[in-house]
Amino acid sequence: MIEKGRTYPIRLLMYEALMERIKPNHPKIPLIEQDYKARRAGYKGELQTDYRLSFLPEKGFHIFRDLRLLDGEWPFQIDTLILTLRYILLIETKAFSGTLFFDKHSEQMIQTKNDQEKSYDNPINQVRMQAWHLKGWLQNHKFTVPPIYQFVAISNSSTIIKVSDRSLNNIIVKGDVLLSRVLQIDDTTSNPNFTDKEVKKLSKSLLKNHTPHYPDILKQYSLTPDDLQKGVQCPSCLSYGMNREKWVWRCPVCGHKSKNAHHKTVKEFFLLISPTIKNQRCREFCSGISSKTASDLLISLNLPFTGMTNGRIYHMPPDIETFFNPAKK
Ligand SMILES: [Zn+2]
Repeated sequence: MIEKGRTYPIRLLMYEALMERIKPNHPKIPLIEQDYKARRAGYKGELQTDYRLSFLPEKGFHIFRDLRLLDGEWPFQIDTLILTLRYILLIETKAFSGTLFFDKHSEQMIQTKNDQEKSYDNPINQVRMQAWHLKGWLQNHKFTVPPIYQFVAISNSSTIIKVSDRSLNNIIVKGDVLLSRVLQIDDTTSNPNFTDKEVKKLSKSLLKNHTPHYPDILKQYSLTPDDLQKGVQCPSCLSYGMNREKWVWRCPVCGHKSKNAHHKTVKEFFLLISPTIKNQRCREFCSGISSKTASDLLISLNLPFTGMTNGRIYHMPPDIETFFNPAKK
């Protein structure tokens, strides 16, 4: 059964907001777009893994997707964790295309694509580190440490995999055989390490200790808010700098009127600038509105908040994607 599902990654939402807001012709745009594409492909690969594992029997397999835990102060993120009475299986999905060569000796993964060779962080080391951290986490939380198996799942079925040593085939798995390899592990383990009650307790603890990460995407690209366009975007002609009239936003370029154009603006503020917003920052980012208007707009959004009326701090809602409806009017 699915104990924890996978939602659209906040990092992808941040990339999308950044590509909308960054000043036109900024020199970092090509790099940002390239990274976004790679991360999106990675997410699609994870969804493929989810689909392939959806054929596992409902009973006995507790599946956690996109779990982030702290081993002491070290964060570690697991794409897919399968918990059973007998073992834990970690699956790191990679959406690489072309030909992949895994060299056991140098511990490198080299991708050949369009006659070009490129070396990447070795996902085998990545999943081994996750297993190592998970072991530490289990010990810290006083749980039994069962056998922890690891797979690197290559999601693209057209990717060609080459290994320097056949033993690597135990860990690198093509997506189309992932399900049968999971079942194979299931067949070869027999002694229970947990009781049903312990599995329940561990499941609960894993969920409770999940610590989502909110990366600072501007910092990642050495950008500042000055690299972004300010103002409310017109949903019709997409230019920035709508003017606030009594109850609506009006576009000085095309004359379009909108009631909710600021929703997207505040959402982008949360994703790009800070997970909290105050009146003053809202005025700056929406550009050209009064303190009273900023206050009215923030209150009307029904955001979670802390503090008193005047210095009130509004917080990014946890379900940011569904919270903000795109401006329709
Ligand atoms: Zn317009």
